[in-house]
Amino acid sequence: MELRLEGLQKSYNHGKTYAVKDCTVSLAPGVYALLGPNGAGKSTLMNMITDNLAPDRGSITLDGVTIDKLGANYRAMLGYMPQQQGLYDDFTGEQFLWYMAALKGMSRQQAKDAVGTTLETVNLTDTRFQKIKSYSGGMKQRLLIGQALLNDPKILILDEPTAGLDPRERIRIRNLIAQLGGDRIILLATHIVSDVEMIASQILIMRKGLLCKQGQPHQLEEELQGKVLLYPIKEAETHVNSGCLAGNSVRRGDEIWIHLVGDNLPQDGLPPESVTLDDVYLYWTGEAGM
Ligand code: ADP
Repeated sequence: MELRLEGLQKSYNHGKTYAVKDCTVSLAPGVYALLGPNGAGKSTLMNMITDNLAPDRGSITLDGVTIDKLGANYRAMLGYMPQQQGLYDDFTGEQFLWYMAALKGMSRQQAKDAVGTTLETVNLTDTRFQKIKSYSGGMKQRLLIGQALLNDPKILILDEPTAGLDPRERIRIRNLIAQLGGDRIILLATHIVSDVEMIASQILIMRKGLLCKQGQPHQLEEELQGKVLLYPIKEAETHVNSGCLAGNSVRRGDEIWIHLVGDNLPQDGLPPESVTLDDVYLYWTGEAGM
C-alpha cells in the first residue's frame, strides 16, 4: 500500500497565506510522525488527506489511483481523529461508539463487533457504561481514537492525540498507537517530540507550510552530528544572540549546560552525549519541542 501526495498545495487569504506548499511524500505502512509548530500546516495537510478539504493544486493517490476516483472506497479505508471533536457528555463511552458506528453506515451486527473490539483496544471496556462527563482527559482521547478505529482503517490519521494530557496519560496513548501499527499507515501530528521518538518509523517535519525534512529518527539524528554542542548555560547567551538555537539543558556536576544547535557553532563547546530528536526538531523548525 502506498499513499502518495504530490505537489499538494493549499492557500488561504486569496493566495496570500500558504497553509501547505508543494508537499510531495510517499507513505507506506508504518507510523509517521508529522512534527511542526502551531500554524505549520499539519491540520491542513491532514484535512486534505482525509478528503475533507480540496487542495488548490496537486494530487493524492492510493496505489496509483487518485482518491477522487476511489471516492467512498477510499473513505471506507480511513480513520480520522480530528484535533477538535465534540463528545456528548451525557452519552456513555459505549453509546458514543454506537452512535459513531451508525454515522459511518455500519450495520447493527458490524457495529456490535466493532464497538466491542474497539473498547478492548482502547482499554475502555470496564468503563463503557460510564457517562463521558466522568471520563478523564486521557479516557476521552482514547475514546476519540476508538471512533477512528471502528472501521478497522488501513489509513489512520490522528491530529494531536495527546493534546492537553498529563505525562502518564500521554505514555498510555503512545503505547496504544505503537500497538496499532502493523499493516496500517498511521500519520500522527504533534508538536510534542517526546510523544513520537520511540514509536515513529519516519519523521516528517513541517515549517511554514513546507515539508522541510523527512527521515528515520536515528538517521535525522546522525545527520545532525557536528551541529550540536554542549555549552555552559552562563556563557551560552551570547551565542544564542548571534544565531545559535538553545535546546535541552543537561546537568554536568554542579553546572547546567545546554545543547546549542546551528550551522555556525562556537569552537569551544563539548560534543553532547547524544544528538536527540529535540535537537533535530529545533534545527529544522527554529523552535524548541516540548
Ligand atoms: P497546524 O495544524 O500545524 O497548527 P494549520 O494547518 O492549522 O497548522 O494552519 C496552517 C496555516 O494556515 C496557519 O497560518 C493558519 O492560520 C492558516 N489557516 C488554516 N486554516 C485556515 C482557514 N480556514 N482560513 C484561513 N487561514 C487558515
